[in-house]
Amino acid sequence: MPDSLQQPEPQDETVFPPGVCFIDGAYTSMDQARIPVLDWGFLRSDATYDVVHVWQGRFFRLDAHVERFLNSVASLRMTLPVGRAELERILHTLVAKAGFRDAYVEMVCTRGHSPTFSRDPREARNRFFAFAIPFGWIASEEQRARGLDVHIAAIPRISPESVDPTVKNYHWLDLVMGLYAAYDAGRENVVLTDGAGNVTEGPGFNLFAVKDGRATTPGRGVLQGVTRRTALELCAELGIPAEAAPLSVEALKASDEIFLTSTAGGPMPITRLDGQPVGDGRPGPITAKVTALYWDKHGDPAWSTAVDYSLAG
Ligand code: PLP
Repeated sequence: MPDSLQQPEPQDETVFPPGVCFIDGAYTSMDQARIPVLDWGFLRSDATYDVVHVWQGRFFRLDAHVERFLNSVASLRMTLPVGRAELERILHTLVAKAGFRDAYVEMVCTRGHSPTFSRDPREARNRFFAFAIPFGWIASEEQRARGLDVHIAAIPRISPESVDPTVKNYHWLDLVMGLYAAYDAGRENVVLTDGAGNVTEGPGFNLFAVKDGRATTPGRGVLQGVTRRTALELCAELGIPAEAAPLSVEALKASDEIFLTSTAGGPMPITRLDGQPVGDGRPGPITAKVTALYWDKHGDPAWSTAVDYSLAG
């Protein structure tokens, strides 16, 4: 597919979402994007990625996402075949070519594989790809209005001593099996513990508990989410004391309010834990304030960057 792709090719949207992918140096529609089966990103989950969203034609906190991605790539001793300016240009181009006003934009670096399929990761040729698909939410509109009912899984999150959770990764089997446990229990989502009585995070989100006007988000064993960081900054702006610190399951259950944070929807309320109401069982006032300010920031040039739609080609 030529670099000059102007519009996504018509594609079967019952199989793939609409969108555009940059892979192996060219732009293509999502249904044409392929990685070789020998890529260790697939065979060994040997990859890192990041996701930034676009809302009403603007990237939200693009710098923070790109920074985290570059740090993750370096931590895994991979080499990105593009520099930072080129990476950002590609992300803009993806959204411009797809023509999206709201989008979910993922950048990925995989280990790739060596031409001889050597087992030595140093011999692998790393692969970079990125794609833009429509914006998606962790919770539906109805769930966001009433708050989610979340299961606390017996499965502990993979140990931070084994896999560094601050390097955004695809080691998701604990999270995915946790989701099945939640669905089996009749719940809508899941939070995993650290195996020592503290909560960590869920599939694609961090967690905040509010008690007596103070917000706490687990400090360890979690991805340092950009939305988590944003929520901490917004709490500071709102005069709400907030910290990253250990958060026990007991403390979570005794919270007045809980909200999750994710690029896929921002702060969103959790109003039940395993069917039991959190506080009065309704989304709380601090959750509402943080959420409102979060969405306000999307038009603020200090927090967001206009997509360069002239790159559509
Ligand atoms: N925790 C995990 C495991 C995630 O995968 C994600 C996002 O995908 C998050 C937390 C939330 O991070 P962010 O706010 O940067 O989207």
